[in-house]
Amino acid sequence: MDTSNGRPIYRPSGQIEGQIFLPLALAVFAASGALGVAMHGLFREGWYFHILVPAVFSLLIVGLLWQVITYGRCRNRLVAGLLGGACGLLLFISYFHSGQIDRHGIERWYRLDSLPEYVGYRMKTDTITEERKVTTSVFANGMNAVLGLGLTLWLTVWYAQKVAARAYCESCGRWTERDQAFLEKGRGEGVRVALETGKLAELRLVPAFEPSLRSRHCGLLIEYCPPRPGGGGPCPCLLSVKEVSKSGAGRYNKVEGALGKSILRQVQLTPEEVAALGARFPEFWKSHKPPGGR
Ligand SMILES: [Zn+2]
Repeated sequence: MDTSNGRPIYRPSGQIEGQIFLPLALAVFAASGALGVAMHGLFREGWYFHILVPAVFSLLIVGLLWQVITYGRCRNRLVAGLLGGACGLLLFISYFHSGQIDRHGIERWYRLDSLPEYVGYRMKTDTITEERKVTTSVFANGMNAVLGLGLTLWLTVWYAQKVAARAYCESCGRWTERDQAFLEKGRGEGVRVALETGKLAELRLVPAFEPSLRSRHCGLLIEYCPPRPGGGGPCPCLLSVKEVSKSGAGRYNKVEGALGKSILRQVQLTPEEVAALGARFPEFWKSHKPPGGR
């Protein structure tokens, strides 16, 4: 735990469950290489759409990265980011290398040294079909390759780091549960001030907001442990607040995965604050409502 403004905030421990993480990391790395071969297959068949195809393949890698980081209990953002970056890079190396082997024969399988020369050749010869007009432009090919790789690396690194930064309870030895609540847009600053001045209970009067796809709202995320059988020490309960400018599809793309401005990030709540705010979070409140509480 680190502190901000005198209040503890969550910091990942940096630990990893090596025996599980390493084999899974190798598997996702190998899968990224295989996806590069598949991407070349699409190119060969004339189905390679710039930006779109790398984006879709990156999302497949991202799905695998989630598994590796979650089950390998990777709370190390640097390692997660490096793995994401390595997978993204390998996707492109494998894509072009498959093209090189396809053109020059399998005996080139180890010739990574001639890859830059082959990529240069592709930049000069790849054609772009637009409204049935076929053109070749080194500049456009170069831009498409750079943008495709850039988007891939951004997605894989950003996402992997994000997954590793989710709260993990070291005393329970598990990722925390999470629940969300929504207020109308512009309320985030008010929540931060209410928290700092001990007036969270007044938020009870603020009506909830029903988020929709692409809605703008204030998103609250709570990360917590389910109650432990037989009690045990209280686990940290963390609050994040974000002014969401564009909400996405899927449960967790309304706060965490949504675009917007972070107001508070994983700050630890006191039991009194949990009691004042908890009822806003339906799932959380099911297991944390005090006996006789509203
Ligand atoms: Zn815990």
